[in-house]
Amino acid sequence: MVYKLPELPYAYDALEPYYDEETVRLHHDIHHKGYVDGLNQAVSKLAEARAASDFALIKHWERELAFHGAGHVLHSLFWNNLSPSGGGAPQGVLAQRINQDFGSFTAFKKHFSAATVAVEGSGWGLLVWNPYAAKLDIMTTEKHQNLSIWGVTPLLVCDVWEHAYYLKYQNKRAAWVEAWWNLVNWQDVEGRLAKAKNK
Ligand code: MN
Repeated sequence: MVYKLPELPYAYDALEPYYDEETVRLHHDIHHKGYVDGLNQAVSKLAEARAASDFALIKHWERELAFHGAGHVLHSLFWNNLSPSGGGAPQGVLAQRINQDFGSFTAFKKHFSAATVAVEGSGWGLLVWNPYAAKLDIMTTEKHQNLSIWGVTPLLVCDVWEHAYYLKYQNKRAAWVEAWWNLVNWQDVEGRLAKAKNK
């Protein structure tokens, strides 16, 4: 298998009380694993299609590749963006960049929360590095892969699929997003920004 489910960088219960153990366990072990399995299946089916020179189902498997591939990438980022000792506000270069591109941390946080809560259906809020303008942008995606600009690098992502929050927060997506801020690992986000800018 080409892709593997990454281990969580902390214990299942480490993000309590903001993120409950049962949801983290299901989200990682079942949902994220499902994207890894789906991605490996798409890779293997596309190889079979090439070998047989049979492209009758090409549209289906290319869609599966995009959906599960984007799902795997975003979930891997999501887990690493969080930390039991997260929260607060960013420091240093990331803080300066956020002030420069969004006016202030408060304005950034309000914009990110509003955009993320407003995602239609299942999707994500994302802070991205946009290399074309050399600045940070806030984006949203429906499902895992729709509405993106090619080539931007996601730095911080918030999952607002119902599977990410429904057990604890039910229909209160805004309450989940508000709780999620308490877990953000700003050092991880700053490290990703440094790498993205040097690409
Ligand atoms: Mn998810």
